[in-house]
Amino acid sequence: MTKPPLCRYCGKALKKKVVSVSFNSYHSRTPGGRRSDRPASREEAQKLFNEKIVSIKYRHDELGRYVAEVGLWDRESYVDKFFCKNAHAQDFAYSALRYKPELGTQVYFEALEKQTAD
Ligand SMILES: [Zn+2]
Repeated sequence: MTKPPLCRYCGKALKKKVVSVSFNSYHSRTPGGRRSDRPASREEAQKLFNEKIVSIKYRHDELGRYVAEVGLWDRESYVDKFFCKNAHAQDFAYSALRYKPELGTQVYFEALEKQTAD
């Protein structure tokens, strides 16, 4: 299994981009949709998807226990490419500028040039 990329600021593993799907449901509004079938186990539910089941919730009804919701991961997508949260992207930018104060975007340098010409 490939290891998850780590946050470039704090070193924590990046969060997987997970889509939830609910089963045996006519009212739940999970982002990945809902299905009317009713798998009894993780194995049974996994057979229905190419994506990997990374989280699972069970529920009980008069027929017994069933899988009520799964979180699916496509085995490659993360919530963000580099950082565990937006604040760490910002903290990284500040630490990068402390280290190399001359860094900037092309738009920044164009504005700076214009400002100097005025
Ligand atoms: Zn982080």
